[in-house]
Amino acid sequence: MVWQVLIGNVTAVALLISVWMHLHYKFHRLSAAQSNLAFGLMMGLAALVSMLLSVRIDAGYYLDLRSTLITISAIYGGPLAIAVTGPMTLAGRAYMGGVGMVPGLISITILSLVSLAVHFLLGRSAARPRGIWIAALTVTAFSLTMSVLFDARGTGFGTISLLMTGLKFIATLLAASVITYFRGFTIERDMLRAALTQAPDFHYVKNLDSAFVVTNLNVARQHGRMRSSEMVGLTDFELYPRDIAQKYFDREQAIMDTGEPLVDFEDYLPEENGPGRWFLISKVPLRNRHGDLIGLAGVTRDITERKRLEQELLDSRNLLSQAMAEMSDGLAMFNPQGRLLFCNEQYRAAFPRSAYARQPGVHIADIVRAVVRNAERIDVDTDVSEEWIQAAAQQLFLERDTEIPMFDGRWLSLRTRLAADGSALVVVSDVTAMKQSEEHLKKLAEDMRGLAETDALTGIANRRAFDNAVAREFSGITRNGSPLSLLLIDIDHFKAFNDTYGHIEGDRCLQQISACLTAVCKRPSDLAARYGGEEFAILLPGLDADGAMHVAEALRAQLHGRAIPHRASAKSVVTASIGVANVGATSFLSTPSELIQAADRALYDAKTGGRDRIAVFPAPTRAA
Ligand code: GH3
Ligand code: MG
Ligand code: MG
Repeated sequence: MVWQVLIGNVTAVALLISVWMHLHYKFHRLSAAQSNLAFGLMMGLAALVSMLLSVRIDAGYYLDLRSTLITISAIYGGPLAIAVTGPMTLAGRAYMGGVGMVPGLISITILSLVSLAVHFLLGRSAARPRGIWIAALTVTAFSLTMSVLFDARGTGFGTISLLMTGLKFIATLLAASVITYFRGFTIERDMLRAALTQAPDFHYVKNLDSAFVVTNLNVARQHGRMRSSEMVGLTDFELYPRDIAQKYFDREQAIMDTGEPLVDFEDYLPEENGPGRWFLISKVPLRNRHGDLIGLAGVTRDITERKRLEQELLDSRNLLSQAMAEMSDGLAMFNPQGRLLFCNEQYRAAFPRSAYARQPGVHIADIVRAVVRNAERIDVDTDVSEEWIQAAAQQLFLERDTEIPMFDGRWLSLRTRLAADGSALVVVSDVTAMKQSEEHLKKLAEDMRGLAETDALTGIANRRAFDNAVAREFSGITRNGSPLSLLLIDIDHFKAFNDTYGHIEGDRCLQQISACLTAVCKRPSDLAARYGGEEFAILLPGLDADGAMHVAEALRAQLHGRAIPHRASAKSVVTASIGVANVGATSFLSTPSELIQAADRALYDAKTGGRDRIAVFPAPTRAA
């Protein structure tokens, strides 16, 4: 009968503790203080129930599990819990009354204080397994002490009191174990919940119907909810437009049908007023311990910003390669070691004979070698030395603009610029057209100059060319002291020639006389010029008076040799009068016009002397 009551007592206490452990999880919103007070209240109730089911062993003396509950309450609930459990137990004992009441009240008070002391001594380690043993030992030690005290008083219930101590030990051990286990379980669950709800990104678990079972706070906020609990039971059909929700639903159902996870899937979600957002989605099917599919767990990350940066990079890269591909110039970049990093197609096309060598990674020296071997540049021989090739390769690292003539008549302009890191950028342009027009212009300018200095009728130098030449040669005399001679020629009776044969024939005569002049100008520096009308001049640099005389004689002989008929002349052929002047080291003639005047004077002498003759301007020495 006693044991039945005691077992009933233990069962009732175990039931109350178990109920509390299951219930209190529901109250996880309570503060720690509230939770401890509630725990104390529960332990107090358990103590009262235990006392109601107690075994009376003597008038006023009862056996029950109140000490187990007091100790548990104090050790696991602290001062707040025992502040509730203690008074409740005291009240219950006072209500039961009897002779043992006062010792009972005293023992409850002492055990409460001792257990509280153990609570503080254990501190955090109360939650560890050794707390279970310490709680059980506290109760046991206290019970034994009480038994000894009662035995000393000779009440005679020692044996049953000892058995009762054993029962209390086991009951405390069990209760503390249950509490420790559930606390660990609660902490674990809290951590998992915190990890899930506080993690970045979007985390969620869905059931087989694609309804949310649990989500983190981010998911709730994404859908305008304050708590993740508000998401439970919702499906995408309540959150997204129908077509999008259907797409998500189908995708999730496929995962749960096939068991194939979806990993790092990039998905685009359009927005009504915005550019939309990109998400990186992973969804894995969940199975229970028997291997059956029970739902899925998903992680979604917003990668809109990353996508935007990727797109920006791609755009600028496309733009750059497009620009490089479509520019008219060839472009190549060499690294500081002289190896080709990249080039566009135009660059290769500009060098058809060495294009095969112009590949990324090839050294500039090998490219130069290909140019040489294939005679791609007409200004480079095919048998140049290796030193030449190395030197040419080195030129890559000079910032400069060059123009090179190609085998096919093209001209290429190479502009080299160096970057800060030592790499070289080469821009190649076809400048053939420019080069051609440049050549054309040069020739045109030459022609123009020729025209400006040539007499149109006779083709020999004109007066302007003659004047320039006299001035130039005169400065030559003063520089190196070499002599200079001048012949002035005037055709005799030319007016009469015109009158006789006509002007056209006169012009033709002038041309023939020019030919005579040219014939006697043997040295490259000799210059025959039409001085004006039917007057001519021959400038003879480096020739002294004797030499000039010889040229004059030769000219006269030429004219006679030609024997151009001239009816109106006494000689019946065209003749000319020649005036010779000379300037040398000892000459007093010091300007071009003085020289011309001197020759003119001599010509006058030749005319007045009877024509068809040569007269020399007397060139007296300085002494004279
Ligand atoms: P002189 O022996 O004294 O020199 O007699 P001249 O008739 O030659 O006299 P002058 O030197 O004054 O003659 C100049 C003439 O030359 C006048 C002009 O008709 C002729 N003349 C000048 N220039 C040209 C020309 O370009 N063509 C032709 N056909 N005749 C010219
Ligand atoms: Mg004349
Ligand atoms: Mg004349």
